[in-house]
Amino acid sequence: MAPPKRKHSTHFTASKRRKVAQKSDVVSDKDTPTPEEWNAMKSFKRFQVLQQDDRHTFTLGDAVLVLPPTGEPGDASMTDDDFWIARILDIRAPIQEPTDSWDQPVWAKVQWFYKPEDLVGKIKGLKRGAYGSKERIASNHEDLVHFSSCEDIVQMHAYSEISSKNSRPTIIDTDAFYYRQTYDVLTNTLTPLPKTCLPKCRKGYNPDTNTMRVCPSASCARAFHVSCLQDSATSSSIADSPNSSRTLVGSSPKQKLKQKGNEKKIPNELQTLALLPMLKGGPHGVVGNVPFVRAALAILRDVRSGTRTVDPDWQEKLNLPDGVEVQDLVDAAAEYESAECPSCGATM
Ligand SMILES: [Zn+2]
Ligand SMILES: [Zn+2]
Repeated sequence: MAPPKRKHSTHFTASKRRKVAQKSDVVSDKDTPTPEEWNAMKSFKRFQVLQQDDRHTFTLGDAVLVLPPTGEPGDASMTDDDFWIARILDIRAPIQEPTDSWDQPVWAKVQWFYKPEDLVGKIKGLKRGAYGSKERIASNHEDLVHFSSCEDIVQMHAYSEISSKNSRPTIIDTDAFYYRQTYDVLTNTLTPLPKTCLPKCRKGYNPDTNTMRVCPSASCARAFHVSCLQDSATSSSIADSPNSSRTLVGSSPKQKLKQKGNEKKIPNELQTLALLPMLKGGPHGVVGNVPFVRAALAILRDVRSGTRTVDPDWQEKLNLPDGVEVQDLVDAAAEYESAECPSCGATM
């Protein structure tokens, strides 16, 4: 690893009294640096805030809890959901010698994450109730916040529902925050969510409460409410049809032979996982089994087309949450029968 180019102090410490944050459209702080003052300041990579005996380190790129004006510094009854959340883009201070004082002019340029309810009424068609409790909306709304208003770091995941590539799957812990959309404050527009349940009910879904089934076809990947699929369900269950018509590769005679040869090397568990109905939302969690079934499908596709063999560590590389086994995913999907995608006709 290359040594840092410049050696300079990379942190400040704040303790005792703290400032609350200012969101520029809520209230402005007379101490906030002017653009000229900001430009004249020196950049830093991190700062620290001392709370009781805990030292919290905040680094560029972190998503952080920021104390809102309604909050009291040190109020232990506040939960993560009571704080504002922002991403740190830049840290600056004019000082040469950092001290242990709370009122140093150390500022972070942040980009806010909105609570969906903050945008109800501002954005046409945005519905209360169509968002999970840990869901936020990213924005390009930037402000400078005093470093002492930063409370803690949180996990904030960009969750793309349609990415079906072999990239590292998004796994979202139950207490982590995530966002599916970005709000542009300049144009007052929101990036759209992928169309859900088309051509069925076309309504959105709340990842906390709605169980969705996802089409395994990479070119479709649409999600459907389980209840909307009832009509399309077939009488055979997934378990009865291990050779379901889910298409994995093309089928020239040569490829078929090759498939046969490779087939023996495919562990049963991998095959079972790849054929599970893809489920997300409700009791299955925000991302559900989707990243894992997709990963298994990708391995199967490659093995069957002869481009790779099954990695002996394939299960570990799935990166299942702690304590979760492939069998748990199989059990959680047991009650769902195979169905036909109402959009593209693939078996799901
Ligand atoms: Zn529906
Ligand atoms: Zn489909």
